[in-house]
Amino acid sequence: MIYIADYVVTQNATRDCIYNGAVAVEGNRIADVGFADEVISRRCDDKRLNLGQAVIMPGLINGHTHVAMSALRGYSDDKTLMDWLQKDIFPAEARLTFEIIKISSLFSCTELIRTGCTSFYDMYMMADAVAEAADESGLRAVLGESVSMYFPGLAGKDEETLFERVREYSAKWKDKSRINGAVCPHSVYTTDARLLERCRELADETGFLFSMHMSETKGETQNCLKENGARPLDYCRSLGILSSDTTLYHMVDVNDDDLGIVKECGCAIVHNPASNMKLASGVAPISRMLDFEIPVAIGTDGPASNNSQNMVREMYLASLLQKVDKLDPLQAPAHSILDMATAGGSAALHNKNIGSLEKGKLADFIALDLTSPNMQPVHSIISNIVYSATGLENRLTVVDGQILYKDGEFLTLDYAGLSKQIHAIRDWVYK
Ligand SMILES: [Zn+2]
Repeated sequence: MIYIADYVVTQNATRDCIYNGAVAVEGNRIADVGFADEVISRRCDDKRLNLGQAVIMPGLINGHTHVAMSALRGYSDDKTLMDWLQKDIFPAEARLTFEIIKISSLFSCTELIRTGCTSFYDMYMMADAVAEAADESGLRAVLGESVSMYFPGLAGKDEETLFERVREYSAKWKDKSRINGAVCPHSVYTTDARLLERCRELADETGFLFSMHMSETKGETQNCLKENGARPLDYCRSLGILSSDTTLYHMVDVNDDDLGIVKECGCAIVHNPASNMKLASGVAPISRMLDFEIPVAIGTDGPASNNSQNMVREMYLASLLQKVDKLDPLQAPAHSILDMATAGGSAALHNKNIGSLEKGKLADFIALDLTSPNMQPVHSIISNIVYSATGLENRLTVVDGQILYKDGEFLTLDYAGLSKQIHAIRDWVYK
């Protein structure tokens, strides 16, 4: 199939944007990218889908979320992080079930697909339930099992049961090309040193990736200094748990020494602007992270702290937050933000085959409609994507060569049915 549109934003090494471009797909890979007339002449027998006044671009990569939390969207807002977590979210989550986690995750997948996301990195309890949802939706995902020291937990009555569950599903996921796993200690403040070391061992044993919330607030740093005599990153480095398979979420309260540790250990960072603003955690110094040549991705965080899963909205916020924080409009320019949501996401998910439209890469892409009033005229297609789009311009989501959404229709998920189910779960939350 050849997909044709007025613009193709490749995000390749030279960041080529092609006017009257086309992307050809064979199986789950991109077979050709270029000017439409040239691609068609090289592949004259292929079927064609001409999207007209639209931009084809790599699918956005959501570097950090908790998709099952769509069940709790709007349940608790306008609280401090600790009050929000400990008084409202943790008690509600303690009553979740495998089925509720799966349905809530499926519902979130509709939002991700609708707003142009093709891959996400999730952290939650019962990652096997989230994985079933991701698998059914057709999205690409890294599913991380959230581990904390509070037992009994949803995914296991004690640590051994939980770890055994991860071992069991890791063996089952080996053949699933779109699904990868991760071991995710929740944070330094919900674990202890021994549990963090055991999580690292479990990741190494299963071949899973490793990620955690890190340095989200000043309070987290102060507590870690008091209890462990070191800042969170220094503490984690001393335990030997950080490596090139590691992704760190938030990274708001960090200094140059912390970033030096991240660079030395080869970790990637995910910036979560909406969550950091809404919970008033602070502003992550993403320009400084890029100075250190650390890969930086963008994530929405969960739908209970954002409260959306819309990566287009997140790109807009990421840019504007840096500008106002530094009182400098040159900060976080549009193209560097789009890089974070594509190439940065590829680094955060530790998958080199996504994030750009190039021959041989996985066929994960979207197409934004350019006919709506907010998307015209086009002086800079990148500016329109980052500063003007809302996410709802997306009219095509393709993952692994498969169309998941096209012009209002979900092709892998029953949106009407899932809407009914999420309303029923909303009522269950209050029972
Ligand atoms: Zn989070």
